[in-house]
Amino acid sequence: MIKIVRPRLPSELESSLLKLTEELAKTAVPARGEHAQRMWKRDTVRRDVYQPVRDALVRMAPGIDCCMYCGNQLADTVDHYVPKARCALRTFYWPNLLLACSTCNTRFKGDKHESDGLLGSLLIDPTREDPFDHLDLRLKSGVYRAVGGSKKGTWTIEVCGLNKERRPWARAKAWANIGGHLRAWARARNDQDERGMSFAEHCIREQPFADVYHAALRQADSEHAERIFADTDPGTLDLLRDVELRAALQA
Ligand SMILES: [Zn+2]
Repeated sequence: MIKIVRPRLPSELESSLLKLTEELAKTAVPARGEHAQRMWKRDTVRRDVYQPVRDALVRMAPGIDCCMYCGNQLADTVDHYVPKARCALRTFYWPNLLLACSTCNTRFKGDKHESDGLLGSLLIDPTREDPFDHLDLRLKSGVYRAVGGSKKGTWTIEVCGLNKERRPWARAKAWANIGGHLRAWARARNDQDERGMSFAEHCIREQPFADVYHAALRQADSEHAERIFADTDPGTLDLLRDVELRAALQA
């Protein structure tokens, strides 16, 4: 999970969402939830609102349409950060909408929602906060841990199934692939091969599980970097700290 910048929507789409929210606000509370579900599936809403919102989310997402929760590619559903079933009025509220894969959206998260009086929702919102303030990714194992027992980190790992099934394995594999691309980038630079450098940068940025290279860049910058990267190939940490490479990967 990585930080994502949420832009404003085109004004026409913004006002379509507002009109749908106003329609919902006029519906009495006991019926509002069901009405929201029906509106969400309305043909005109699917065509004129859902599709352009999904397109806007795809443009926001890193890599090839990476899920904003698990980071895997080709996410294709619009998820409600606070589920419709919990707050129908946020069904068409742009800041409540994220791009998610169906595994996170339907299989793991569903209508689950937890909040805390002090912290608010316990699910990390990657468009409002930096997930790495709450989540630590162990690069070698691909397993997420909550930073300092963070409640938000713990709940997010649980509700999105971040450590379930083959997800840690896939992240560990992504990290191994990134190592190969880092070495290829260094060779290309030594050979003054700009195309080779660009290709290696592209391969790292377009990897599934975009969170892995973001975690590596962040950890390379931390005070514990020497310990974290002690058992990686020699030169890996220096490359992750290389100003030229960091600029290309964070562009
Ligand atoms: Zn996902």
